[in-house]
Amino acid sequence: MAALTFDPTVVATPNPSRFKRTMHAAVVEAFGHPLVLREVEIPTVGPGQILIKTEACGVCHTDLHAADGDWPLKPVPPFIPGHEAIGMVTEVGAGVSLVKVGDRVGVPWLYSACGHCEYCLSAWETVCPGAQFGGYTRNGGFAEYVLADPKYVAHIPAGLRPDEAAPLICAGVTTYKGLKETGARPGEWVTISGCGGLGHLAIQYAIAMGLRVCAVDIDDAKLAHATALGAELVVNARTVPDAGAAVKAGTGGGTHGVLITAPSLIAFKQGVAMVRKHGTCVLVGLPAGDFPFPLFDVVANCITVRGSFVGTRKDMAEALQFAVDGKVKADIELQPLSAINDVFARLHHGDVAARVVIDFRKH
Ligand SMILES: [Zn+2]
Ligand SMILES: [Zn+2]
Repeated sequence: MAALTFDPTVVATPNPSRFKRTMHAAVVEAFGHPLVLREVEIPTVGPGQILIKTEACGVCHTDLHAADGDWPLKPVPPFIPGHEAIGMVTEVGAGVSLVKVGDRVGVPWLYSACGHCEYCLSAWETVCPGAQFGGYTRNGGFAEYVLADPKYVAHIPAGLRPDEAAPLICAGVTTYKGLKETGARPGEWVTISGCGGLGHLAIQYAIAMGLRVCAVDIDDAKLAHATALGAELVVNARTVPDAGAAVKAGTGGGTHGVLITAPSLIAFKQGVAMVRKHGTCVLVGLPAGDFPFPLFDVVANCITVRGSFVGTRKDMAEALQFAVDGKVKADIELQPLSAINDVFARLHHGDVAARVVIDFRKH
């Protein structure tokens, strides 16, 4: 597919009092259709809000689900997807003191939460019923500017480039939180099932957390990468007759934690079979369909199966610090915003080896 050009016919009325009032954005105008590259008005900063000039924004599978309207809670077109935006604060609204102009921040999936429900009060703001989601219920980072709530932005430490940080504020924090939720302790084993965009980060976080890693995938190249990242045991779930048995044999009875990043129902079922007795299997992938739940194994082996969804602001700060310390680095591929529909098509076909990051320095 050829890269689309920006449509000059759709231009909001410019405000002559400002140096620039329009921006390039990739807009979902209807579910299941290509994004439309348009010039739209730069949003106005209200009280308690900040405006960020986007430097980089990662592309995530969730953006495909948003653009296709796949999930029960749907965004309302037209909207701008993207929940891995990193940029500089260019404007702060009335009453904002947490960030200042010139700070580098990230605008994540957890765009904002209510701050006072039982979940927010117990550091579970990720499940706040009043939460808003970046690039979903609020416009996101596939645009040159994005509005944000300063109470919920990620603070990007010095020493981390915007394109390096972008995948970490969704894929990074999701896998790091998922690993914490396995309850596995230093020296114990964890299986990372799916070694692609999420999994290659999960392996690095796990090793940085002192865990021993078993990597499972159906692609030998990804497994070779897993070994290079420090996985001690690799299992090709396509070529071995029983992946669960292979993991159990290689780890003395299964791994204490299992993190399923692959969006595959087969991987979900196999993952439960890899857990050590009394261990925990954490799901972060979201394949369509019903989970094939192996009830007998779960009950008889006292296994916990748990969902995990992005991470809190505290998890975010920890996840970024591992990268600053040089322990975690995302494999990234830079693309201009004008290539967004090609990137979506490749993601649909599983044809992306690394995390794609939209680089706003390119056009
Ligand atoms: Zn995401
Ligand atoms: Zn809340």
